[in-house]
Amino acid sequence: MSILMLLTMAVELDPDRVAVTSGDEQLTYGALLERSLATGELLRRDGADHMALLDLNTTAFPVALFGAAAAGVPLAPLNYRLAEDRLTEAVSRLSPVALFRGAGIANTVGLGPADVLHSTVDLLAAGLDSGPAAESDLADSESPAVLLFTSGTTGTPKIAILRHRHLFSYVTSTVEFGHAGPEEAIMVSVPNYHIAGISSVLGSVFAGRRIVQLPSFTPEAWVAAAAREAVTHAMVVPTMLGRILDVLEKTGDRLPALRHLSYGGGRMPVEVVERAVRMLPHVDFVNAYGLTETSSTVTILGPDDHREALASDDPAVRGRLGSVGRPVPSIELEIRGDDGRVVGPDEIGEVYVRGDQVSGEYTSHSILDADGWYATRDQGRLDSDGFLYLRGRADDIIVRGGENISPEEVEDVLTSHPRVRAAAVVGVPDVEWGERVEAVVVVADDLPTDGGPAGQELTDELAGWVRERLRSTRVPAAFHLWGELPFNETGKLLRRSVRADLSARADIA
Ligand code: ATP
Repeated sequence: MSILMLLTMAVELDPDRVAVTSGDEQLTYGALLERSLATGELLRRDGADHMALLDLNTTAFPVALFGAAAAGVPLAPLNYRLAEDRLTEAVSRLSPVALFRGAGIANTVGLGPADVLHSTVDLLAAGLDSGPAAESDLADSESPAVLLFTSGTTGTPKIAILRHRHLFSYVTSTVEFGHAGPEEAIMVSVPNYHIAGISSVLGSVFAGRRIVQLPSFTPEAWVAAAAREAVTHAMVVPTMLGRILDVLEKTGDRLPALRHLSYGGGRMPVEVVERAVRMLPHVDFVNAYGLTETSSTVTILGPDDHREALASDDPAVRGRLGSVGRPVPSIELEIRGDDGRVVGPDEIGEVYVRGDQVSGEYTSHSILDADGWYATRDQGRLDSDGFLYLRGRADDIIVRGGENISPEEVEDVLTSHPRVRAAAVVGVPDVEWGERVEAVVVVADDLPTDGGPAGQELTDELAGWVRERLRSTRVPAAFHLWGELPFNETGKLLRRSVRADLSARADIA
């Protein structure tokens, strides 16, 4: 059993249905299978242990994904935005490798010591030899299907292994994919080298949907493609959604075909969700929380949860918009304290998950415990109804004089201030406390934003706002005014770079 089966099942249903489009290119399900088997043949001739792909989101991605499965080798989709030296290093860690480069990737990109180099044209070209389907599926459920470099937002990139059984289990246990209809079209605008992009493609193939690949994200391109292709489903990361709503507001377009929008990959400000629901009342919204190591989604806040929260005056129910929902049926979830014991409702601890889709394995080591539990490094609490509220990553917790402070708790309070558009809170080395709390804010008014300290008036106002709502130890010792916060391309706040910047300033002071 390999992920190739997901494709062969879709072909059996209807080989002529369009599987994937990108701009003017398109492949039917039948053609996708044919190209995948031919690619498997090509890989076998190359004799590489890995297939690597450096491309924008195009029709080549599903061909590579299923082609690698046919050859029984894992696919490592690479981040084409990586700096040249990091890309070179990534490629060398995969050797012996067959590296495929897309036409949209600049020639100047450092390619490293690739053992065999192809253009993605080779994947799409007709006329390649292909073996019979049965013989071509060399992968079994234990074979590695994809190798993913973690983005390294909290350390050096690791290579996560997802085996065929993990991905197969994720796709087949996801209710949404089982209920999909042939008229559905999904926009994949999250990069294909990220688990969210991969899981969207795999699930949609299983569902027999048309996959609309957006080569690279701009909010204008997203809105134009969604309207042109009558997109019904989409997945976005938080930074994308706010920008998409800005474009929709400007153009007046409301995307009547769109029915389902899921978001995740990072913390979504509640204000953005509320705005999205107001502007697009015909759309079902889903908050999906997941990780690379868990083959994506482990909890969801579903469309009914969104509706109920928005219609309620009860602050506890309303507050659910700030949660990531409840575990999906195939996932068990626990919150454990520092002593490793499961904590009670509303107590904060580390999120642990277990289930068939959970890999927790890297090329260097596995971190699943003997009972199959995976420690996510995310802090959170479960309320008495089973909704999960994330409180940031364990590595980001600020320890001030021995007291643990969640940066996200302080950020939430700051962003609820009418003058604050965005906030990042970090720990800065401090002689007296070990670490002190400092905040960067992006403000709604026209104050000069040179990255320097906020003026006395704003500092007093924001410090007072936090003091009224949280314990005094949480009040930032300094506020800095920035024009924008740094995010990576999958919507994660680059907290390390904020911390490095503020720590450097602290040294100068
Ligand atoms: P690294 O592990 O190297 O830091 P990464 O952060 O990019 O890389 P991913 O697997 O892409 O790794 O990200 C998973 C993390 O993203 C989760 O642990 C969680 O902190 C965050 N996350 C994912 N979905 C959501 C969500 N819906 N809401 C809030 N945070 C989320």
